[in-house]
Amino acid sequence: MSAAACIFCKIIKGEIPSFKLFESSSVFAFLDIQPLSVGHALVVPKHHGAKLTDIPDDQLKDILPVVKKIAAASGAENWNCLQNNGRLAHQEVDHVHFHMIPKPNETEGLGIGWPAQKSDMDKLKQLHEQLKSKM
Ligand code: 5GP
Ligand code: ZN
Repeated sequence: MSAAACIFCKIIKGEIPSFKLFESSSVFAFLDIQPLSVGHALVVPKHHGAKLTDIPDDQLKDILPVVKKIAAASGAENWNCLQNNGRLAHQEVDHVHFHMIPKPNETEGLGIGWPAQKSDMDKLKQLHEQLKSKM
């Protein structure tokens, strides 16, 4: 999807209204319109890109301090920072965004399935070598 058609690019440009929480030369943050809990916010790089791997490092480094600032302002004791990449991973908007989602109780906020599997140590070692060689 082009930046021109992107809903978050339109929000950044002010073409679509949002409840803006923060703006700098590289980062924009606003309240999520369909929150999982009160205070659910989105922090996005101004650079358009669908996945984290599409965003230049110099834009990415400015994001987490803003997530931290909003989390502190929300007063949440428990919260999740979530960043989805790709449809299967629950990404709906193809402009990178970090969710800051307060977790006030069992029912509100982010619900997580965590299908942990046992490790085969040989396979884990092999994977470790493979990943290291590509970094
Ligand atoms: P994703 O599933 O892609 O990680 O999350 C997309 C998020 O963007 C959702 O939580 C959704 O509620 C939020 N969202 C989608 N469209 C808009 C919008 O026009 N304005 C705001 N403020 N949030 C939006
Ligand atoms: Zn965009």
